[in-house]
Amino acid sequence: MLKVGMTGGIGSGKSTVCHLFSALNVPIIDTDIIARQLVEPGQPALSQLVAVFGATIIKQDGSLDRTMLRQLVFSDAQHKQQLDAIMHPLIFKELDAQVARLQAVYCLLVIPLLVETHNNYALDRVLLVDCPEQVQVQRVINRDGISREQALAIIAAQASRQQRLALAHDVIDNTATPETLAEQVKRLHNSYLLLATARTT
Ligand code: ATP
Repeated sequence: MLKVGMTGGIGSGKSTVCHLFSALNVPIIDTDIIARQLVEPGQPALSQLVAVFGATIIKQDGSLDRTMLRQLVFSDAQHKQQLDAIMHPLIFKELDAQVARLQAVYCLLVIPLLVETHNNYALDRVLLVDCPEQVQVQRVINRDGISREQALAIIAAQASRQQRLALAHDVIDNTATPETLAEQVKRLHNSYLLLATARTT
């Protein structure tokens, strides 16, 4: 099965593009969803996080306090490394397990931090959802109601547009209206079907 890794910065339009691939019946696995499931109460990853970061990252109901964890790692590179060292192997192990269960010629694996994690997960293609930073900023402000400064700080902590472009085999330009996406997705879908078929013949 051809594995296409999809990446892109915050608010670049990954979810929006995913809906279009999903409408074409392409199976999609999102590592953000895996990451969230891995830290649900009762999951071993949550205990590992508490062992490293302490009880302050747990809310009264026993669930993870994401805001607290985000604050801890945002301001401290060592904390960020510790978090990644716990979560990344677990995320990619679960990704592997879910991919193995798929029946399809190709699948889309959403890995927002693909470039940042330098991971060598065996992808056949890297698909980037791309738009200029100022467009990203405005969309994140509109969607999440955060300040321009907060949006810029998040974007500054992520890989740059150039770093992402350097790694991508395919690029979806999401600068204009969502209507411009459907045709780009259809083209890519056809090319992935061709590439997947070429591998199996
Ligand atoms: P995140 O990294 O935060 O998960 P994302 O990459 O999945 O974000 P989306 O949630 O798809 O990005 O898009 C960010 C916001 O911008 C959403 O509110 C979405 O509706 C809007 N949006 C996406 N594409 C366009 C577009 N072409 N024109 C206008 N708004 C758009």
